[in-house]
Amino acid sequence: SILLGIESSCDETGAGLVRLGGPGEGPELLGHELASSSDQHARFGGVVPEIASRAHLESMTGTVRSAFAKAGVRPADVDAVAVTCGPGLAGALLVGLAAAKAYAAAWDVPLFGVNHLAGHVAADTLEHGPLPSPTLALLVSGGHTILLRVDDLAGSITQIGTTVDDAAGEAYDKVARLLGLGYPGGPVIDALAADGDPAAIAFPRGLTGPRDARYDFSFSGLKTSVARYVESSERSGRAVRIPDVCASFQEAVADVLTAKTVRAAADLGISTVVVAGGVAANGRLRALAAERCAAAGLTLRVPRPGLCTDNGAMIAALGAHVAAAGAVPSSALLSGDPALPVGVVHQL
Ligand code: ATP
Ligand code: MG
Ligand code: FE
Repeated sequence: SILLGIESSCDETGAGLVRLGGPGEGPELLGHELASSSDQHARFGGVVPEIASRAHLESMTGTVRSAFAKAGVRPADVDAVAVTCGPGLAGALLVGLAAAKAYAAAWDVPLFGVNHLAGHVAADTLEHGPLPSPTLALLVSGGHTILLRVDDLAGSITQIGTTVDDAAGEAYDKVARLLGLGYPGGPVIDALAADGDPAAIAFPRGLTGPRDARYDFSFSGLKTSVARYVESSERSGRAVRIPDVCASFQEAVADVLTAKTVRAAADLGISTVVVAGGVAANGRLRALAAERCAAAGLTLRVPRPGLCTDNGAMIAALGAHVAAAGAVPSSALLSGDPALPVGVVHQL
């Protein structure tokens, strides 16, 4: 059977179509389409909720239509609709929910409201098949930095660590802003870092002391440290080499994320690691995770960069897992929950 997934939790309008895999197979991606309002937020240095909602409204139907064209299927082929019901911006979620409810009602198919964060993890199953149980997932995105024990993508996901302040993606965005590099910060820092020296500046590794929480993260000290470095360089008339700042910052982020993930996998006796979310598109994080997982004898799975950042395919993928597990469909009263906890995979 075929599922349509709709994503609108932040500034990306996404629609994806997947085919449910057979037993032991992951869902198959048929095609997806994305529209982004990130350009409209760039001059504000972050997402403006009202602008995001309006952009979703304007691009939703066209994005869905284009996803169908790319996938080579028709609305009459769709057996279920999945939609992000949280976490995310309330007004942005509302647009996707309204669209998904309308499609499900018009086509007379079940609707599944699913968790955006679990969706990021589910994206990986489109490329690498079903997750072994248990899997350790590092979810690194614009709003979250969480270590998860995933026993079952369709229902059993447990948080074992999180950031105590900024998310990793938020740190990228704030550092880019203070360096005058625009929004979103991740891709531009990633690119500039290629010409920099990751050892040029010794930025702090948050929460890595012997008495710090083993699986929690902190990135606000790192962001402040970058700001201090830039300020003091300017004050003393030293030129700031932006590529070196980017490479050194990126190294600090990747170092802490991978060290804690590998440690958690060892502690919990979990042998498969998935890295997901927008920051998983980062070149240095992918390389260091590969290096350290290999050294620790862990299997690493990371979706291709285009499936790491927000998209509709990941929502369709999670919907496929939820539907295949025999979940009860959501009602027409399904509502968005901006603070939906990561363990709530789908909502009635
Ligand atoms: P959440 O998923 O927590 O609700 P979100 O949906 O806004 O937040 P994503 O779309 O998953 O977040 O990820 C966006 C974040 O990923 C931004 O902070 C962006 O800077 C970061 N990002 C994107 N590409 C890269 C990259 N190549 N390197 C580092 N960070 C990146
Ligand atoms: Mg985005
Ligand atoms: Fe996201």
